[in-house]
This record gives sequence, C-alpha cells and structure tokens, in this order.
Amino acid sequence: MPELPEVETTVRGLVPVLEGRRLTRVEARRADLRRAFPPDLRQRLTGAAVTGLGRRAKYGLIHTDRGDTLVFHLGMSGRWRIDPSDVGAHDHFLLGTDEGREVVLNDPRRFGSLDLVETATLDRWEPFAKMGPEPLGDDFAGAYLLRALDGRSAPIKALLLDQRVVAGLGNIYVCEALHMAGISPTRAGGRISRPRLERLVEAIKTVLVAAIEAGGSTLRDYARPDGELGYFSKQWRVYGREGESCGCGSMIRRRADSGRSTFFCPRCQRA
Ligand SMILES: [Zn+2]
Repeated sequence: MPELPEVETTVRGLVPVLEGRRLTRVEARRADLRRAFPPDLRQRLTGAAVTGLGRRAKYGLIHTDRGDTLVFHLGMSGRWRIDPSDVGAHDHFLLGTDEGREVVLNDPRRFGSLDLVETATLDRWEPFAKMGPEPLGDDFAGAYLLRALDGRSAPIKALLLDQRVVAGLGNIYVCEALHMAGISPTRAGGRISRPRLERLVEAIKTVLVAAIEAGGSTLRDYARPDGELGYFSKQWRVYGREGESCGCGSMIRRRADSGRSTFFCPRCQRA
C-alpha cells in the first residue's frame, strides 16, 4: 500500500514528463475508481498546461493553468506508468502531452481516486480542510506536537495515525519512527515529555526522508518505457520483523490492534 514516501516519489517521477507540458490527450477509461470521476474531467484538462506538481499527505497534486488541480490518490494498489507500450485492463486514466509522452494510472484494486479541485480552494477541500501539518514541513516540530497531544490519553501510535494531528503518516512509518525514538506505541500521547517529542519528530522526518531517498534512487528506472512509479523495497527496523532480533538483542514483537499490526521492541520501547 503506497504511503507518503511512495506518493512523493511518484510525484517526482511525474515531474519530468508533465511539468510545463500541455495535455493533448485525456482519457478516462472508466467512470470511477473508489468514487466517480468528475464528469467534466476530460473537458477541463484537455488543452490545459501543467504548471506544477505537488503532494499533500498521501495525495498527489497536478496543477494546471486553468486554475484546476487534478488530485490523485493511489488507494491500495495504484501506480502511474510512464510511456507504457500497451494499455491494459487496469489502466483507468491516461494523460498524453504535447511532447508525445503518456502516463497512465493503473489501479487493479480501484481504491484510488481522481478529483478536480479549484486550486485556490484546495486548503478548504473536504479531505484537506481538517488535516494537520505535513510531517516534513517546518510547522511539524516538538512545540507543535506538545500542544497537539496536550491532555490526550490515547496511545501515541493512534494519535500519530490521526490525520488531524499530522498528515499522511501510515502504519509502517509510525512503527518505524516510534522504534527509532524509543517510545512505546501504547504510551499515552499527553504523557510524553517535550525532549522525547522532539526526538519523535526528528525520527519521523528521518524515516520519511530515508524512504524518499530510497525511492529517488530507483527513479532512474522510470526513465525507461513501462517504468512504474510508486513502489520500491525498503529495509525496515521493526515493521514486518516479528520474532527477529532487534539491535539491542531483544526480540521484535507484534501486537494486533484495531485491524493493524504494531511492531515494536519491548526493551528499546519500554515507556
Ligand atoms: Zn530493541
């Protein structure tokens, strides 16, 4: 499942193909993914120039000179393919540029989404309206987290997954960052000291940046036809490593809570 670093890598991979180009071909090969595509999607995008790309949480943003932003979400299995040699059953949406290049959104499980939002109103768009700061932004700092968690008795892990506290963090990176910061996933958010929250913020930024760099190092593969954006293998500290040894000599454990698995080291993350 694509998380923030995969979305960031995807956006960076789309930039050389789309940025500054005019969209000469826009093809929706079905009417929906998780929800219906905007009915005027093709009309509003065809002939528009892409002025820039960006990311908010786990959404990719493609801005146009018509004041519209195409917002994409990769859901569980979405990915963009670049200059595909053929277009198949799971390729649901295609953009072609005046340079003759093409990108297609491939999504076998169809949990992704495509929306067109007026660029000027993006911050007020429903999924973004109540979202917390970007984890890699300057606003996400120890002082902010101290305020956001003040008086909260919920486990820190659940609070970090709450998009109103911080945007775009998923299960894998929360497990990894809590391990790096040496904080128990079940610790009440409001009972973590300022210095430990500072460490946690640094750990979150570190694990995300490392993953984005890992993705970036695979970007060269996207230059070739049929390059697929969005997935790369990473080495985790605790995630998916139940029963393996942590660096401290203790065994990594897994706990199941509300449908998600938490991986942690009982020795490194005692409190
Ligand atoms: Zn350990």
